[in-house]
Amino acid sequence: MKKQRGVVFDIKRFAIHDGPGIRTTVFLKGCNMTCWWCHNPESRNPSRELFMYVNKCRMCGRCVDVCPNDAHLLVDGEHKFDREKCRLCGKCVEECPFGALKIIGEEMTAGAVMDEVLEDKHYYDVSGGGLTISGGEPMLQIDFVYALLKLAKENGLNTVLDTNGSDGKGDYEKILPVVDLFFIDVKQIDENKHQAGCGISWLRIEDNIHWLDSKGAKITFRCPIIPEFNAEDDGHWQKVAELAKDLNSVVAIEYLPYHRLWISKVEGLFCEVDEHRRNLPEISTERINKIENILRTSGKKVSRG
Ligand code: SF4
Ligand code: SF4
Repeated sequence: MKKQRGVVFDIKRFAIHDGPGIRTTVFLKGCNMTCWWCHNPESRNPSRELFMYVNKCRMCGRCVDVCPNDAHLLVDGEHKFDREKCRLCGKCVEECPFGALKIIGEEMTAGAVMDEVLEDKHYYDVSGGGLTISGGEPMLQIDFVYALLKLAKENGLNTVLDTNGSDGKGDYEKILPVVDLFFIDVKQIDENKHQAGCGISWLRIEDNIHWLDSKGAKITFRCPIIPEFNAEDDGHWQKVAELAKDLNSVVAIEYLPYHRLWISKVEGLFCEVDEHRRNLPEISTERINKIENILRTSGKKVSRG
């Protein structure tokens, strides 16, 4: 179990919004959804990749000089990058004097991850916390996820799995005995809108939620509030509240107001940002309050995530 390998892109210690108590959240690389607002776009690609903190780059050209494959190019005041040419040797990362470059993703064993997680065991024990696995979509690395959850349970930790809910039932069945709480994204109840925004069927996720409910799982709905996707639609939020109300398994709803962090991250991956979306405003407090009131009709605990 300890030797199982997976690709991790971050390990966040002392997390207090990712489940009960004080936790360590392990973020896995790779996702099967295409949500444009995703605040972890660096998680999408399942492989390791070079990332640039756009606001740190001073256009000094050291990375251009050091790269053996001519992957970096400074042209007309713009830093361009050819990912096809990059061999992830890390030379430009070491050479950049401003810490603007980073290789995202590290292959680790479950044992090495757990050693890091267990450094804070004292805090989990006193707070009722433990391990949260997030992503990306962690279920794409099911064997690694299972190994981490099993090791966490062997060490007496509370476990949370943050999933988009789209994986096959066989995989969810495998991990069910070692998950205390599922975080499941509910982004859009309308099938066509969900397909258009996320690139995947909502009906499959809804079916999995009902199946997990029938198995006695505990679930928290996580609902992003996204402009031009669901933020303006009272009907959507009413349906989310009704779904939660109907399911014994749903213990809480967390809503996550849209923020613009994704823009600099997409730029950091050297990808184009859609100009219309770049200028979309954040959600007003008045609108967030209205959505919260609708969600409260579910009778479940509702909070900002
Ligand atoms: S990424 Fe770093 S090394 Fe490359 S141009 Fe920018 S500041 Fe210079
Ligand atoms: S990691 Fe290596 S190959 Fe990739 S851009 Fe940097 S120097 Fe070039």
